[in-house]
Amino acid sequence: MNKLILLLFLMFVISSCADNYPTFDADNAFEHLENQCELGVRYPGSDGIELCRDYIINELTKCNAEIELQKFTVVIDEEEIDGVNIIASFYPQMSRRILFGAHYDTRPWADMEEEISLHDTPIMGANDAASGVAVLLELAKIVSAKQPQQFGIDLVFFDLEDMGAYGDNETWCLGSSYFADNYTKSKPEKSIVIDMIGDADLSINMEYTSYHNSPNLVKEVWEIAEQLGFNEFKSKITNRIYDDHYPLIAAGFNAIDIIDFEYPPWHTLEDTPDKCSPKSLGIVGQIMVNLIYQEK
Ligand SMILES: [Zn+2]
Repeated sequence: MNKLILLLFLMFVISSCADNYPTFDADNAFEHLENQCELGVRYPGSDGIELCRDYIINELTKCNAEIELQKFTVVIDEEEIDGVNIIASFYPQMSRRILFGAHYDTRPWADMEEEISLHDTPIMGANDAASGVAVLLELAKIVSAKQPQQFGIDLVFFDLEDMGAYGDNETWCLGSSYFADNYTKSKPEKSIVIDMIGDADLSINMEYTSYHNSPNLVKEVWEIAEQLGFNEFKSKITNRIYDDHYPLIAAGFNAIDIIDFEYPPWHTLEDTPDKCSPKSLGIVGQIMVNLIYQEK
């Protein structure tokens, strides 16, 4: 083999290695979604949220994550409510980091139901909570099995996202606010919040504030989606959606939100696993995997 052929061969080997991304297991992720729902409704103060916390911690422990429980108390309607953010770190020695966040609490009120008598009934939150957590737990398994070349990974499971009053932004995203306000380490290079990405009819637009605050990160994610042929990611820009990325952005994080806000069962009793699909979790999950393992 002469030197030129050897060089071409090595270039071929290197470029095919770069394409060798781990596969995100959509069915496994969907099991995490169903398992959370089987624990019951998971609003702050419920038995279900305690069980869900245990479930998340147990899964992260299996993946050898370094786990921190960040406890805090908020006051809602003159009542003190305890919250716990679950923070899992992989490869803490690596200085370049990507943070992924998802809330795990579900809304205690089905207040988007037409029937007013149902407004005080807690929702199941298959999409609005369980879907994001499911993707993060599958990512935990992947990054624990194969160390990314460039990035250490932090997964943050936010509490108390979903007890807000419509139109009053400060009352939402209390767990992520506490996390952002008390963050002392150097900030991750990229932070991505995922929420409501399990909708079987998946369509993800660019969230307005994400696009304007972190255009490069939005472009990077959407480019990966395009490379993978996932046309569920659209280049349309939404209105502002107040979600856990807002407190992160306010604290100076390079943060975006990936959310499918066109979901008719939102905050109703219809937000159940049958409205979600493994395929949707798989699309978002594989994009996150490729972002983690790309060589730049
Ligand atoms: Zn919600």
